[in-house]
Amino acid sequence: MRAVTVIPGVADSLALDENYPEPAAEEGAVLVEAVAVGICGTDHEIIAGHYGEAPPGERRLVIGHESLGRVLEDPTGALQPGDLVAGVVRHPDPVPCTNCAVGEWDMCRNGRYTEHGIKALPGFARERWRVRPTFAVPLDPALSDVGVLLEPTSVVAKAWDHIERIGHRAEWQPQSVLVTGAGPIGLLAALLASQRGLSVHVLDLATDGPKPELVHALGATYHSVPVNDLDFEPDVVVECTGAPTVVLDVMCKAAPTGIVCLAGVSSGGRTIDFDAGALNRALVLENNVVFGSVNANRRHWELAAEALARADRHWLSTLISRRLPVSRYQEAYQPGPDDIKVVLDFAV
Ligand code: BGC
Repeated sequence: MRAVTVIPGVADSLALDENYPEPAAEEGAVLVEAVAVGICGTDHEIIAGHYGEAPPGERRLVIGHESLGRVLEDPTGALQPGDLVAGVVRHPDPVPCTNCAVGEWDMCRNGRYTEHGIKALPGFARERWRVRPTFAVPLDPALSDVGVLLEPTSVVAKAWDHIERIGHRAEWQPQSVLVTGAGPIGLLAALLASQRGLSVHVLDLATDGPKPELVHALGATYHSVPVNDLDFEPDVVVECTGAPTVVLDVMCKAAPTGIVCLAGVSSGGRTIDFDAGALNRALVLENNVVFGSVNANRRHWELAAEALARADRHWLSTLISRRLPVSRYQEAYQPGPDDIKVVLDFAV
């Protein structure tokens, strides 16, 4: 069968393997036929040779961690043939650590977790894949066009879950949210904020293209100015750019008792002059919290599936800026200037 693979650590080794082996029975009882795979910054990092790890004993890694597929068979009976599902990205470490032991693999403490298409587990950019029922999340059948957005939605569902848990350390009545970065993660974080009835602000460099309209369609306000020019102090910030100055600026901008969730991964290696003491003073004297958030556990995937089912389908489909058949994988993995989410379509 066809699979898109890379040699981790080797730049530009992306290839379409026409004879990739069928998924092994040990991968899980649920056999799934791929419908679509979403592409994100992590894939680009893997293709550039900066990230990623092949399964033990293998040279190549099947890429793709944002999945959508249809169940072909599940002898356990948990799922029915034809069910729309996505595969959970991360699997718990083998020890397991205290968090992995209770299904909170997104909070793994020893780094020995594995991730489909990223770290030591084959990804979903192959025509068929297998998972155990615990790692297959069912989706509303009406989401067949946009369900590939479940993985990035799970990441923001986890971010919001943790924001709310932190918020409840004291009386918690947030009004305003600032999301920095209007890529897929930022826009989905804004969607979940709007579903919570908050006053949502999204900040991005883009002044044209689809982003401002997508933000307005959520009933949110779009800003294309530096963080310091905003005329309000957000109760919650979801930082999705990873851009060092934006990260530092939002930490200073948050309202007293504000919560800043860092969800964007910086590339590192760039230093800037910054008054760390002033930041410390602001955080301590205002009881602010800054925390990092990555990945998602099954509970978050289920919350994400509910959030997508409640969302406007047209809005969701506008996030998918390009859909390409697997045969055009090279184009798909080439970032374009107007891309929001690019999807590899396995159904054509
Ligand atoms: C994925 C996460 C993953 C992270 C680190 C992200 O792109 O969405 O599931 O944990 O990369 O590998």
